[in-house]
This record gives sequence, structure tokens and C-alpha cells, in this order.
Amino acid sequence: MTDYKEVVSSVRNSFASGKTKNVQFRIQQLKNLLRFYNENAEKILDAVYKDLRKPNLEAKLVELEVTKQDVEQLLNNVAEWAKPEKVSKTIVTMMEEPIIVKDPYGVVLVIGSWNYPVQLTMMPAAAAIAAGNCVIIKPSEVSSNTAKLLEEYLPKYLDQECYRVVCGGAQETQELLKQKFDYIFYTGAATVGRIVREASNKFLTPCTLELGGKSPTYIDGTADMDITVRRILWGKFTNLGQTCIAPDYILCTKEVEKKFISKAREVLKEWYGEKPQDSPCLGRIINERHFKRVSRLLESGKVAFGGSTDEKDLWIEPTILVDVEATDPVMQEEIFGPILPIVNVDNAFEAIKFINAGEKPLALYVFSKSRDVTDLFLQETSSGGVCVNDTIMHFSVDELPFGGVGNSGIGAYHGKFSFDTFTHKKSTLIRKFDAIGEHLGSGRYPPYSEQKVNRLLFLIKKRNLSFLKYMPYIATFAAGAATALFIIYINKGKQPALVTPVPQTWNEFAYRYLSKLRHAVRL
Ligand code: NAD
Repeated sequence: MTDYKEVVSSVRNSFASGKTKNVQFRIQQLKNLLRFYNENAEKILDAVYKDLRKPNLEAKLVELEVTKQDVEQLLNNVAEWAKPEKVSKTIVTMMEEPIIVKDPYGVVLVIGSWNYPVQLTMMPAAAAIAAGNCVIIKPSEVSSNTAKLLEEYLPKYLDQECYRVVCGGAQETQELLKQKFDYIFYTGAATVGRIVREASNKFLTPCTLELGGKSPTYIDGTADMDITVRRILWGKFTNLGQTCIAPDYILCTKEVEKKFISKAREVLKEWYGEKPQDSPCLGRIINERHFKRVSRLLESGKVAFGGSTDEKDLWIEPTILVDVEATDPVMQEEIFGPILPIVNVDNAFEAIKFINAGEKPLALYVFSKSRDVTDLFLQETSSGGVCVNDTIMHFSVDELPFGGVGNSGIGAYHGKFSFDTFTHKKSTLIRKFDAIGEHLGSGRYPPYSEQKVNRLLFLIKKRNLSFLKYMPYIATFAAGAATALFIIYINKGKQPALVTPVPQTWNEFAYRYLSKLRHAVRL
């Protein structure tokens, strides 16, 4: 087994050298990463295909392009994001410099998952690099082809003293977790999330846990069924259901269910043909263990569509189950496969009660034209994220933090949130040796007196200074008005010759356009 102690200690020495604190160095590494994607695009798509039979165009989009765009965004912003951030001032800090200094944590461990093996490993790794950390990347051993590719090719592009790829399974990861890290970013199941959390506790290491869970989908009678069906089926069956925010199950009335099933049959035939197993648009279950686990869940309720399996091909047909009860096996765990059970509820209140009886989900989906209904779900449920009238798409909005809550995770990333995740925000106050500041603050020095305390209390009292944000506008207006009045005043009694159609001097301007005002203020 690799000597992880040695690996972490050599990377720690590199961090101590200060190399990664240089923003230009980070930019160069991100450029190298981009080159890695561009020069090895075919190899990457091929590895992902071998791991998951992920359709090439789907993989191109969600593994390659998304990941490249992420690096582009970091490249475009890293210099700005890494700068110390000015914060708003108060009466007390008026003469000071309160700033947030962006410190990298140090040595970061990124543990990836197999279902989107490039994206979910490399997006956090890239953000950790941008934030100035040294990074140890541990891809999932389950997606072994992608793991091997990252292990072989990344060192050719990234600085080997600062960034290392280590491969291995549960045992190796647990050995790795015995080392001290400064931040751990883990993506995967909650059971392992607990192991990671426990290991990080030993060193009080902060960590992000990107976990999963059962993401519910509620459909009401007002939803546009044509669009609803397409959006739900796409979210469910892309990557053959192995997506952390795939809609796990549907909650709706029997009436809505009938409409949903009828449309779903049509759409699934349109997308995947008569024999979905031959469709080039569907992947495969990652391995035998998961095939057996997911197949067992088919025994719940009644099959309304699909249901066939082929163990040798690791194939499970996109399947819709009806007459499913909350106590059925398919409702006891995250499905993480192409099975979509429908549980009947009478209304939104019942659906909310059902959702709140379980763990907090990673995503929650509501399909309804009624704003009251969607607001009800927003107010009465708790989940990592919500997408109304679509599935998965909130994941693609970089301005939204992506992460779980409760059992579905701790922390969030994407866009600037990713950079912030790997950055310690060092609160910094820079003061001067000025006499006024010293006098104002001298009330804190002994000997204490009532008068000194009162003076301090006056200074530190929290005031609502939100009106200060209008000060620049008020000041601009006041300056303009003062100038106008001054011009009017100095022109009092004078009448410039108006020979040109457009005023040529300030005097002409004042005479023409401000004479009414002059009259009004009787100057
Ligand atoms: P996995 O088997 O790839 O495990 C994830 C990582 O944990 C791997 O790197 C693996 O080596 C390591 N690991 C596994 N067992 C371990 C152990 N006993 N001790 C230490 N490390 C161990 O992936 P998985 O857990 O099967 O992933 C599926 C789960 O991940 C689902 O619940 C899914 O919802 C969730 N997920 C969440 C997100 C998200 O962004 N929130 C993304 C993808 C997957």
C-alpha cells in the first residue's frame, strides 16, 4: 500500500513553501488542467464509457464540457476572488481598514464518487487548486477506468509536488483518512460520509459532505403533463438513474398518475424505441453489486412500464412502479437506479407530511402551475435544493449553492461557492497609530469609569445605518444643486447675448434653463 503519511507530508512541505499562494501559479495550473481535458477528451469519454456505458454525447456534456466550463470560470475569476475583500464600515471602523483575507486551508483531500467520475472528482479539485491549496485527489475505485486515467495523466499536467492522485478502495481511503488534512471534500453515500466525518473530527478538520438520499417529486393536477413527464423522465433515466439528484419517487393523486403513465409510455417509446436495451442513449448499472441491489427493488408495487433486467449486460430497463406503499423496499433506501415508484397522496398537504416524515432530501421537485402550492413546499419542507417544474436543472446554475442538508450533506459548492468552500476567510482589521482613533478607543483602558464605559457604549451601539447606502446619490444631487445655485447667483442681473441655438457657456446655460428656478427662489 502507498505510504500515505509520506505522500501527505511531502505535499504539506510543498504548501509550506508558499508556491500555491501565488495566484499566477494557480492560474498556470488551471490552464494545465484545461489542457488535460482538451488533449485527452477522447480518452476521458472512452474511460467513462467503459465504466458506465455512458452515451458519448451525454458524457461529453456532463463530464467534459461542464468540467471545462468550470475551469474557465475559475480562470476568469480567480484573481478577483483571491483578493482581500473590503467590508462595509461602521462609525467605529470609519478610519480603519476592515478586510477579509482569502487564505487557502492548506492540504485538501478530495474523495470522488463513481456516478459522474470526472465531474464530481475534478470540479472540487479545481476549486481547491484555484483557492491556493495543495490537493490530494482520490477518485472512486468503482469507476476504475476513469480512476486509472486520472492517476496516469493528471501528473503530466499538474505540479506533482502540490497535487497528487491516489487510487484505492475503502481500506486505502480509511488509511488515507488517518492523516491530517486541512479540509476534506467527500462525495458519496451517507454511510461513508459518517466515516469521513469521524476521521476528520480527530484533527478538527472542516469537511464538506456531498451525500444523497431520496429526492421526492410532487405533481399536482395543474401541471402541464407533456412537459412534466419529459422533464421527470429525463432527470430519472439519464445515467440510468445513477444521479444523486435524480427524482427518486413521485407523489401524486391516482388521477394524475394515470395521465403521467399514459404520457410516459409514449415518451419512453419515442426516446428509447421498442427495445430500450438497444438504445444508444441509455447507460448501464455500474457493477454487479449495484445491479443486484437495484433489481431487488423491482419487487415493490406493480410494474406499470418496463421491468426487464439482464444481469450479464448490467441492464435494468427504465421502469415505473405503481401501487407502491411507504413500507415497500423501494421506499426504504435511495434507489440510485432506473426505477420510478409512484406513491399516491390526496393533496399537497399529504405530500408534505410524507416528505417530512423522512430524512431531509438532497433535492425536491414540485410540478404545479400554482404559486401557492410551490410556496407551500418551499415554506414547509427542508431540502438541499428545490427545482420547480423541472428536475436537475438547479444544479447547473452556478449562482446557486449546491449541497445537502441533514442526511443529504453538509456544505455546498459550485461557482463562487466552490472557491469559498476551499478558502478560509481570515477576518482582518488594520488600524493606524492615529491620535483620534486612540482617543476614541481609550475608554477600554483601566482605570475603568462610568464615563469611559458610556463613551464606549455610544460608539459600539448598533445603529441602523442602511440609509448610508443612499449617501453617494444624495451627495451628487446636493453638489449639482449647489453648483446650479452658485451659477444663478453669479449671473444675477446679467443677460448674455443669445446668438447661438445651443448654449456655448455655463452662463448661457444658466440663463436659459435655470431662469425659472432663479425666479422661484427669488435670487
Ligand atoms: P463510491 O462507492 O464511489 O464511494 C465514494 C467514495 O468513498 C469512493 O472514493 C470510495 O473509495 C470511498 N469509500 C467507499 N467506502 C468507503 C469506506 N468504507 N471507507 C472509506 N471510504 C470509502 O460511491 P457511493 O457511495 O456508492 O455513491 C453513491 C452515493 O453518493 C449516493 O447516495 C449518491 O446520492 C451520492 N452522491 C452524492 C452526490 C452529491 O453531489 N451530493 C454526487 C454523487 C453521488
